[in-house]
Amino acid sequence: MLADSFGRVATDLRVSLTDRCNLRCAYCMPPEGLDWLPSPEILTDDEVIRLVRVGVERLGIREVRFTGGEPLLRRGLAEIVRRTAELRPRPEISLTTNGIGLTRTVATLREAGLDRVNVSLDTLRPEVFRKLARRDRLPDVLDGLAAAAAAGLTPVKVNAVLMRGLNDDEAVPLLRFCLDNGYELRFIEQMPLDAQHGWKRAEMVTAEEILAALRAGFTLTPDDPRQRGSAPAEAFIVGGGPARVGVIASVTRPFCGSCDRVRLTADGQVRNCLFARTESDLREPLRAGADDDDLAKRWVAAVAGKLPGHGINDPSFLQPDRPMSAIGG
Ligand code: SAM
Ligand code: SF4
Repeated sequence: MLADSFGRVATDLRVSLTDRCNLRCAYCMPPEGLDWLPSPEILTDDEVIRLVRVGVERLGIREVRFTGGEPLLRRGLAEIVRRTAELRPRPEISLTTNGIGLTRTVATLREAGLDRVNVSLDTLRPEVFRKLARRDRLPDVLDGLAAAAAAGLTPVKVNAVLMRGLNDDEAVPLLRFCLDNGYELRFIEQMPLDAQHGWKRAEMVTAEEILAALRAGFTLTPDDPRQRGSAPAEAFIVGGGPARVGVIASVTRPFCGSCDRVRLTADGQVRNCLFARTESDLREPLRAGADDDDLAKRWVAAVAGKLPGHGINDPSFLQPDRPMSAIGG
């Protein structure tokens, strides 16, 4: 088991398949000038599968989410999904993506064994998308979402981050759009994980503000908290239901106490928290011929040292060196 000294057990593995991306979202990347990881440092498909297999077969991993960077840019993605689906016990397999290219790939991914998809969508206005993501790709994202639903990956989940002065007036239109299309929307508070270290506590749009904005357009009733489990989103029933909306208040209402996640970066480092200041290298031992036992032991030790919380609200908080795009969101 991947247990830490505070009694939490990690069963949900987030695997970053690349740090590259075809967008440049303002809360994640600078407009230009971010160095990519050198290719030889990136795990090969076989190496990714070997580590995921160790996690599933020996360490109790039950969910595997592929992310990045933009995971659809990883050439071997469908094959990685297919080989993950062959592992026993078969893990739940999901993908977090900006949706660009999903129209072409979703059928193959579904056939390969993909169970669920989260698509990031922060705005419905093309001009805001151009500013926020710094590329003119909103139609591709919307098409990707529709393709995911048509392929049966339902309920399709949508992640939205609101930024002050950019899209903070879009909480209601985003929810209306998601309700109309049968997508499940979750707002995520902006976290200090951008490559350019531009996050400012005073500027972030809080969960309270998001909920207040939503209440101007909808009746929200808190969902039964027992349904939440280790899920980061606080869920609300919209109107008479059954539709729901979620708010992930990572900064203002941290949920570290029930965290069940562990992360593997594209270059083979285990991170026991998004905000960890240290990583544990599995690539080097893997390439030096370590057996499964040895890799599992290193992984167990990496999780055992997990801190109780992310500490964003402590005066001594230091942002991790790696940005979200290189950790895997
Ligand atoms: N490129 C894919 C995408 O955008 O969905 C996957 C990787 S992205 C890093 C994963 C998720 O992290 C996205 O939903 C994105 O909105 C979110 N994200 C990125 N930077 C963030 C930040 N600073 N605070 C909160 N969420 C962030
Ligand atoms: Fe790319 Fe996702 Fe980061 Fe946006 S949030 S820049 S789509 S990795």
